[in-house]
Amino acid sequence: MAQQRKIVLQESDIPTHWYNIVADMPNKPLPPLHPGTKQPVGPADLAPLFPMELIKQEVTTNKWVEIPDEVRNLYSIWRPTPMFRAYGLEKALGTRSKIYYKYEGVSPAGSHKPNTAIPQAYYNAKEGIKKICTETGAGQWGSALSFACKLFDIECEVFMVKVSYEGKPYRKIMMNTWGATVHPSPSNLTNAGRSILAKDPNSPGSLGIAISEAVEVAATHDDTKYSLGSVLNHVLMHQTVIGLEALKQMEKAGDYPDIVIAPFGGGSNFAGIAFPFLQNNLTGGKKVRAIAVEPTSCPKLTRGVFRYDFGDTVGMTPLIPMYTLGHNFIPSPIHAGGLRYHGAGAIVSQLLKDGLIEADAINQTECFEAGILFSGAEGIIPAPEATHGIAEVIRQTKQADAEGVSKTILFNLCGHGNFDLGSYEQYLSGKLVDYEVSQEDINSSLAELTTPTI
Ligand SMILES: *Cc1c(COP(=O)(O)O)cnc(C)c1O
Repeated sequence: MAQQRKIVLQESDIPTHWYNIVADMPNKPLPPLHPGTKQPVGPADLAPLFPMELIKQEVTTNKWVEIPDEVRNLYSIWRPTPMFRAYGLEKALGTRSKIYYKYEGVSPAGSHKPNTAIPQAYYNAKEGIKKICTETGAGQWGSALSFACKLFDIECEVFMVKVSYEGKPYRKIMMNTWGATVHPSPSNLTNAGRSILAKDPNSPGSLGIAISEAVEVAATHDDTKYSLGSVLNHVLMHQTVIGLEALKQMEKAGDYPDIVIAPFGGGSNFAGIAFPFLQNNLTGGKKVRAIAVEPTSCPKLTRGVFRYDFGDTVGMTPLIPMYTLGHNFIPSPIHAGGLRYHGAGAIVSQLLKDGLIEADAINQTECFEAGILFSGAEGIIPAPEATHGIAEVIRQTKQADAEGVSKTILFNLCGHGNFDLGSYEQYLSGKLVDYEVSQEDINSSLAELTTPTI
C-alpha cells in the first residue's frame, strides 16, 4: 500500500501527563470572581462543588500534570484513538490540500467527553463522593459522565436541556442504561428551574439553565458534587490527550499541520486537539493556525464581548472572564446541541483576545452539507457539532485551492452522529433552517449584563 490511511498508536503511547497551556501563555487568564463579593474565588469557595484535587488542577500553573495509572488504564478501553488521512474527502473536494482527522467517536459514549469524565469521576471517588450532578445539552456529556460514574460506583443525576430530551430519546436511554437519573430542564425540581418556568412555561431550555439546576442541587446537598463537561481549566487540560496523541501521529505520518480545526461549544475538544500544537507555537517557533468553529446561532467568539459573565443562566457560578453573548442568551434550537452555550472558557477567551487562536461561525445547513459529503467520502456519520469543523475544513481547502497553494489541515472529529439521525432526517427532507442572530438580539442580551467589565 503506497498510501497510509489510518495512523495508529500503541497502548503505551497513551500520554502519561496532561498538558497545561497556562504555563506557556504570555498573558495568564484573569481569575474567576465570587458571584457575591466580586473578589477572586479561593479553593474554599469551590469546595462545595468540586473535589479538592480538581480545584488544585483548576488553578495550577504547572506545565504537566500526571495522569493517574487507574485513569490511563481506563483510557485504554478506547485510547489511543485513530487518526485518518482523509483521502476520500480530499478526492471528493478535488483539493490539493492534505486533510487529516483525529477520531474521538470511538469512545463508549461516542465523543471526546469521556476523556474528562473518567478523571473527574476518579477524583470524586477518591475523595469519597457518592453522587455527582450535572447538566447535558445534546446528551453527550451526560452519557459520558453516566458511564464514568458507573465505573466508580457513583450515583449520577443529569439535567438534560428540554429540546434535546425530547429530540434525542436514545441519549437519555443510554444514560439510564449506565444507571443515571435524567430530568428535562428547566424542571420544577429546583428554584432555578421553577424561576425560568414561571417566566416561560414553554422554555426549550439551554445549557446555562441546566447548569443552574445542577449547581443548585450540588450546592444544597452535602453528599453531592457538581461536574462540568467543558469550559473549566481542568476540563480543557484533561482533553489534551487528544492533541498529544495527534502530535505523535502526525510525526508518524511524516507531516505537520498548517491549520488545526475543531468545533467550539465551551472549548474543550478545541483545546484538546489544539493546545499541544499551540505549545509548539508558544515555545518551539511553529506557526500553526488554530481555528475554533461555532454556529451562527450562538456566535460568542465572533460576535460576543470579552467581559466577566456567569457560567450559568441564573447567576450561581463564579464569574468567568470570557467571550459571551450574555448569560440570559437562549440560542435557537439548532441540532448541534453541544454548541448552544452562551460563553467560552477563560483560557480560550484569553488566547482569542491575544490573537493566538482564530474563530469562525457557520450556518447549520452548510454544516450538514459538509457532514453528508464527509459521510459519503469517509464512511463515518459525524455528530452535528463535528460537522462545524468539517465545514471549516472545506472553507479552508477552497481558499487554499483558490490561492493555488496546498495546506496540511488537521481537524478533530469529536463524535459520531449515530444518535443524532433525527437531525439528518430533517436535513434530508429539506426541513432544516438556518438561524442567524440579529444584532438587536445580541445587543439586548448584552445590555442586561451588570457583571464586571474588563
Ligand atoms: C460537548 C460536545 C461539543 C462541544 O463542547 P466543547 O467543550 O466545546 O468540546 C462538541 N462536539 C461534541 C461531539 C460534543 O459532545
